[in-house]
Amino acid sequence: MTQPAPTLDDRGKRPSRKSNRDFWRATRFLWPYRTTVGISIVCAVLTGAFTALGLATLIPILRVLIRNQTIVAYVADLTSKPTTSPFKQWGYDLLNRIASLVPTDPVWAIVTIFGFVFFLGILGSISRFFQEYLSESTAITAINDIREKLYDHILRLPLGYFTRQANGIGDLTGRLVTDCAGLQEGFKTILGKAVQEPITAASSLVVALIIDWRLTIFIIIFTPVMIAVIRKLGTKVRRAMRAALEKNSTMLGQIGATLNGIRVVKSTNAEPFERDRYRGIMMQLQGDQFRMAKYDAWSTPLLEMLGLLAVGSVLIFASYLVFRDKSLDPEQLITLMICLVAIAEPLRRISKLNAVLQKGNAAASRIFEILHEPIEQSVATDDPDHTDQKQPKAESDDSSVKSVSMGGSAFSSGISFENLTFTYPGAPSPAIKSVNLDVKKGTSIAIVGRNGSGKTTLLSLLPRFYEPDSGAIKIDGLDIRQWPLEKLRSIIGIVTQEAVLFPGTIAQNIAYANPNAKFEDITAAAKRASAHEFILAKPNGYDAALDGLGGQLSGGQRQRINIARAILRDTPILVLDEATSQVDAESEHLIQSAITELMKDRTTFVIAHRFSTILSADVIIVMEAGEIVGQGKHEELLQSCEIYKQLYERQMVS
Ligand code: ADP
Repeated sequence: MTQPAPTLDDRGKRPSRKSNRDFWRATRFLWPYRTTVGISIVCAVLTGAFTALGLATLIPILRVLIRNQTIVAYVADLTSKPTTSPFKQWGYDLLNRIASLVPTDPVWAIVTIFGFVFFLGILGSISRFFQEYLSESTAITAINDIREKLYDHILRLPLGYFTRQANGIGDLTGRLVTDCAGLQEGFKTILGKAVQEPITAASSLVVALIIDWRLTIFIIIFTPVMIAVIRKLGTKVRRAMRAALEKNSTMLGQIGATLNGIRVVKSTNAEPFERDRYRGIMMQLQGDQFRMAKYDAWSTPLLEMLGLLAVGSVLIFASYLVFRDKSLDPEQLITLMICLVAIAEPLRRISKLNAVLQKGNAAASRIFEILHEPIEQSVATDDPDHTDQKQPKAESDDSSVKSVSMGGSAFSSGISFENLTFTYPGAPSPAIKSVNLDVKKGTSIAIVGRNGSGKTTLLSLLPRFYEPDSGAIKIDGLDIRQWPLEKLRSIIGIVTQEAVLFPGTIAQNIAYANPNAKFEDITAAAKRASAHEFILAKPNGYDAALDGLGGQLSGGQRQRINIARAILRDTPILVLDEATSQVDAESEHLIQSAITELMKDRTTFVIAHRFSTILSADVIIVMEAGEIVGQGKHEELLQSCEIYKQLYERQMVS
């Protein structure tokens, strides 16, 4: 009541349908549920029809009440006009027969009619229930489809996407949870209210038009005129208000500047000047305030007069129809008015739909933003300098996958890094520069180097977490970009510094990559990873549930579960990032033996921090600023590589 201006403003600036483009695009997810949607629309039509019928029964009720006429007499009146149409005659007969069933006593007549209205109400409620339930459940299912698709897409995004933004994970979670909920609200609205309200309004309008189309149209024309006047007035008030606010801030600035600079004002005797300037601003401000007050003061009387005029015109026209033309009964007039009120309410609700749609549109845009992010390519394009992935092939691009013959054993001779250079997107200089390295199958490579020298980055290129700028990694002489991604990753095991655990039991965590593993295999892997004992010591043993964060396990235990997972996976290639964090001596020993067990018979790349690991490696690689600056055995490197010597002296001799 007290704030008409903002709503009018919103309506004044109603954006076109086009601006909700993403929302309408998202509605394609509703397509699979079109049958349910169809049923819910039928229910909406039924609800509207029952409402309208209920309204129409007001006329006989009023007849009985006002004129004390019996229903039989009323219907006889109604059907007294002679008709030539046999169909109409049949209808008249039916009506008369029904009317003869209604008691002649006025109270019982009302009871009977009300009973009928109540029955209609029950039918209307049932159809309304189905309409709402079906539309909302459709919205829920469609959104769950979107969530699933979105989550699947997120999982396939290249690793770079997750590290690119600081709040990447929070943002993605928000899109999955909040934005999907916003879109669901939008779906629910267009399937529910957006269908039901217009139908309800339309059926009431039909009743009003049947009662008297001339009066209905007459009233309907008045409404837009009134709204136009109110809107015009609202715009003027707002414009005056904005101007006044601007002047107000000028005035505040003036006061602030003058008082802050009061020394200068005083020393230059500028008081009269400042006073006059202030008065000038005040005068302008006052003008705007007056204008605003005038519009404000005008608006109520003007609206009242307009309202009076409207009601008066309607009354005059109606009285003409009732008394002169005799084509309208007072009961019909009252029912018609009630119908018009019944139209107004749904219309008011419809006017709020756009806000929901706009919210849904914003949510849909954020969801599509992710869905349009390119996902990892299974087989990269031939272009060796290919870094951007604007036009990805689908991951399951079978034709190109089949073109690569994998043979039975995936990995037989060795891995070579050839002139490999890689720059992180947006980074000023490459993190890996012209790296050349040949690794024979079955050897272990320890990689050492300062923090930030590129060790992790180099090994991230092997499972194609990132694509190199130039150069190539070849496994058995075949560029890894020619390998189907899944196949490539299936032969590489990765154990990171941070032990990764998922929600589920310990057994499920070990069997994360082999969900069909037999229990004996899981325990065998755990034994080899020196994890069996501590697992058995847990209350539920292998069935002990982890919350995904592994809070119930020590750092060393978490690492051994990760190692057991890698042992069970049994990949021919292993990438191992040794933990730098200190664990107690007992754990240290257990982890060491677990790692030794893990590295057995595999081609292993270890980002090494422990001296024992470095010593036992077949080859040590020294990295510095993205380049390999030394390669060999410990003794050789101590002689030939200054950086290795420094690293050895600083970090490993302690
Ligand atoms: P290391 O494993 O030897 O400590 P990294 O391979 O992690 O070194 O890092 C090599 C260089 O690449 C560093 O300069 C680091 O700042 C940079 N870097 C690492 N990860 C990213 C990333 N996701 N985006 C941009 N730069 C990165």
